[in-house]
Amino acid sequence: MRKDVLIIGGGATGAGIARDLALRGVDCLLLEMGDYCHGASGGNHGLLHSGARYVVKDPSSASECAAENVILKRIAPFCIEDTGGLFVSLPEDDAAFADIFVGSCRSAGVPVNELTPKEALASEPGLSPRLVRCLMLNDGSVDPFSLVQANVDDARAAGASIINHCAVTGMTVEDGKVSRVEVRDRRVLHTTISPEVVVNAAGAWVSEIAQMAGCNISMGLDQGSMLVLDGRHCCHVINRLRPPSNGDISVPNHTSTILGTTSRPASSPEDTTVLREDVDLLVRETSAMLPSLRDRRIIRTYGGVRPLLGGGGREASRSFAIFNDEGAENLISVAGGKLTTYRLMAEKVTDRVCGMLGASSKCRTHLESLGRPVGGKGGSISLTRLERKYGRKASSIDTSDPRVVCSCEQVLRSEVIAVMKAGDALTLADVMHRTRAGMGYCQGFDCSLSVLEVMMEEKGIEPLPSLMEFLQERGRGLEQVTGDQLRQEMLRQYVLRGVYGLEGKE
Ligand SMILES: Cc1cc2nc3c(=O)[nH]c(=O)nc-3n(C[C@H](O)[C@H](O)[C@H](O)COP(=O)(O)OP(=O)(O)OC[C@H]3O[C@@H](n4cnc5c(N)ncnc54)[C@H](O)[C@@H]3O)c2cc1C
Repeated sequence: MRKDVLIIGGGATGAGIARDLALRGVDCLLLEMGDYCHGASGGNHGLLHSGARYVVKDPSSASECAAENVILKRIAPFCIEDTGGLFVSLPEDDAAFADIFVGSCRSAGVPVNELTPKEALASEPGLSPRLVRCLMLNDGSVDPFSLVQANVDDARAAGASIINHCAVTGMTVEDGKVSRVEVRDRRVLHTTISPEVVVNAAGAWVSEIAQMAGCNISMGLDQGSMLVLDGRHCCHVINRLRPPSNGDISVPNHTSTILGTTSRPASSPEDTTVLREDVDLLVRETSAMLPSLRDRRIIRTYGGVRPLLGGGGREASRSFAIFNDEGAENLISVAGGKLTTYRLMAEKVTDRVCGMLGASSKCRTHLESLGRPVGGKGGSISLTRLERKYGRKASSIDTSDPRVVCSCEQVLRSEVIAVMKAGDALTLADVMHRTRAGMGYCQGFDCSLSVLEVMMEEKGIEPLPSLMEFLQERGRGLEQVTGDQLRQEMLRQYVLRGVYGLEGKE
């Protein structure tokens, strides 16, 4: 197979590069070994940064975030809740830090406003009355699955080829260039591709991919944990006004609240395990700002791995870098950065690729809205909710069918059908990423069978492996809960295995 550009990795960065290249008229193919968002793009906190979090220690990352925050709110409003962010300090926090923070925001171009404690409590009643200072910033809540999918859809509409569940397994380098790339597809296809340029956007796997071409990229790997609480317990993103530490942030997200994050060295890109101590720490630290969080039900825990420039930990820069080793001159690798800055990273990489190909077209991703119209049926249910979820792609959903398959997240049967018709959802988890079915209170334990039934009607998929994979993955996210909830979860797992006939099957 021939393609001008092969992109490895279907997270936000890879999908953003595919969109940018396609909009500039460059022929490209993106391969993702799992589903889109298999890596950090599906394992992050969902905070659209205002830049403030990095403003004291890493002002250039802060300025990048501030600029991209404005662009993303404009081009992808359906993926973003423009909640605003509050930074609150408590009596035990260093009082001098707040002044340094405000000064740093002003010099980095990050807009900031101070509220009195009374104003803060009026706009966010769940805040601790112990709060000392409160600053308002432009943080928001972003749905990474929806954002990445919109990039994938747009890239395809502009001519890119994009294949998920398809891993790059090896490379051949000849005369200082990658000449062949070997690929293994979940649908049992093994093939070889010979692109002009290879873009390595493999996130935490960036060093492994570079190694396939004999290049060395040294990145720190850093694991972070998050907890999902049932229900929204704050209106704004709530941040602790102190130097970045563990358990600083609470993000309202769809029907839930996400608490995060932590930071510890990761042994590999797959080392996403959430530790028991992470759960305790996150509840303790975030409930200092929002006391009611202490008693809320944890419906899931999950983790992600950050590739960080210059080692790991809270001190490492959140900026990104582009690598082009002379041992494989047509291989461009990109790593670091944030979900918030994915578009900027994609723009810089695409500029480099276009330079190598002699293509002169300019970037348009900051100007053109994400989510192209695809045409479809109108119906009796208001499209507004679906448009908020899918952007203009909502018009492909048959809203005349009111049947709901996932009651926690109010997912319509016709949403699942539309996703299946799009063709790249192979598993129950893939459908969940695209529709949010199974992401709510019951974590898929009540709705997985109904969703599977629709999937089987649309495509002859093998139900048992998909169901097992999905329930195992959802169950893993609850391993660290304790007390009554643990007992309830164990009973639920036991009942489900009996009802679905999964006992003894691994
Ligand atoms: C705990 C945590 C919390 C975070 N919170 C935030 C936040 O709140 N806000 C924010 O802006 N940023 C946040 N980030 C950072 C953000 O998630 C990442 O910067 C961003 O998602 C990186 O996207 P990416 O596409 O570069 O990498 P990834 O999303 O990791 O994508 C890389 C992809 O490459 C694929 N891949 C790897 N090897 C192969 C192969 N051989 N063949 C094919 N495909 C392959 C992987 O499957 C993966 O999908 C957080 C990160 C972590 C870990």
